[in-house]
Amino acid sequence: MRVDLYDAMGSVGRKFLLAGKGGLNLTHAEAPARFVERFGARQAEIARWLAAFDAQSLREWARGLGVETFVGSSGRVFPVDMKAAPLLRRWVRRLRESGVEFHMHHRWLGWQAHDTLHFATPHGERALPVDAVVLALGGASWPQLGSNGGWVAPLTRAGVDVAALQPANCGFELDWSELLRSRFAGAPLKPVVAHWHDRHGVAHARQGEFVLSEYGIEGSLVYAIGAELREQISERGEALLKLDLVPGYTQPALAERLAAPRGKHSLGDWLRRRAGLDAAKCALVFELVDKPALADPFALAMQLKALPLRLRAPRPVTEAISTAGGVRLEALDKYLMLRDRPGVFCAGEMLDWEAPTGGYLLTACFASGRIAGHGVAHWLAARSAA
Ligand SMILES: Cc1cc2nc3c(=O)[nH]c(=O)nc-3n(C[C@H](O)[C@H](O)[C@H](O)COP(=O)(O)OP(=O)(O)OC[C@H]3O[C@@H](n4cnc5c(N)ncnc54)[C@H](O)[C@@H]3O)c2cc1C
Repeated sequence: MRVDLYDAMGSVGRKFLLAGKGGLNLTHAEAPARFVERFGARQAEIARWLAAFDAQSLREWARGLGVETFVGSSGRVFPVDMKAAPLLRRWVRRLRESGVEFHMHHRWLGWQAHDTLHFATPHGERALPVDAVVLALGGASWPQLGSNGGWVAPLTRAGVDVAALQPANCGFELDWSELLRSRFAGAPLKPVVAHWHDRHGVAHARQGEFVLSEYGIEGSLVYAIGAELREQISERGEALLKLDLVPGYTQPALAERLAAPRGKHSLGDWLRRRAGLDAAKCALVFELVDKPALADPFALAMQLKALPLRLRAPRPVTEAISTAGGVRLEALDKYLMLRDRPGVFCAGEMLDWEAPTGGYLLTACFASGRIAGHGVAHWLAARSAA
């Protein structure tokens, strides 16, 4: 069959290349059962995609293009050279050699007739009839790289059920003082344990690290629990995290250490010596703990073990690493073809699923793309046999 690839940008894979700036975390080496749990509410469907193309398949695919991968200390998998460009270059070369035609600067606007795609190009609008199409138009984060969520309107007009696009793997906003913003934006907080209650009242705790930023907090621990925080904010207007800044001590042991005679030491110095707090953690304590509690070792120990952070909003989707929401999986058949629009398949981040960082995003994009590609072949074969 003839395959044409259309992209709004002047070249393909710009977000893939950006992911390469962080080393290109292609996938994760953890056990399949744990891997699939990362997809939360959508794990049953995504398990089916991964059954056909999983983390190991992705590593073999990269090897097939001459790019070896390795497992980092956290289990994350990267290309040996930690770069996306060589992998993308070889991939595109192989596609061109197998006959795929690339058409850049073609922004898909919707359909002109049932089987005719409508594009905006620098030379005006074009209408292109197709037998089948895979839409893999991404989410709405980093729109400067091509994926701007502009596809939501034509798909919704066509009656496709699309869940609202929302930020995923994003920072959260808090009202910091000017002092904290100017002196500690960019400072890491580690290690900490975040405690929270989910929307059903179940208590959770997770150890990790995050970064203080101009507007609030960001980083891996925040991304990992971001979906729950985002939903709580949308339901209740805020999400409450309680931070244990001193995971190494129990609260009574910490209180005892802080209650020792302080002598001439300032409180900041005392917190550093007796509780092991660095400057960023101390700044957070001075920002959030009131004066009476600062003066009382027992109240202070309680705060250090459960410092409340009230998050008021996620950052906008344009800044996020990925996008939640998208074409609802219920609108698709097992080949990822739109039930109400035969011959139209969807794949990647534009589908309604989400996962934390760690290589899960790219893996599910590849796995869904493979299902949709096979789906097209199957559908065209069935049609021509009919
Ligand atoms: C900073 C950053 C770092 C990341 N790092 C990692 C990582 O290390 N590991 C990981 O697993 N994930 C990472 N991700 C996420 C990962 O890059 C995405 O999940 C993945 O690229 C999504 O693939 P996709 O093909 O669905 O969409 P995209 O990669 O967004 O590709 C969609 C394509 O569709 C084109 N397009 C959009 N709309 C139209 C239209 N109307 N007409 C024509 N073309 C259109 C776009 O130009 C684009 O080329 C990172 C993301 C960011 C922002």
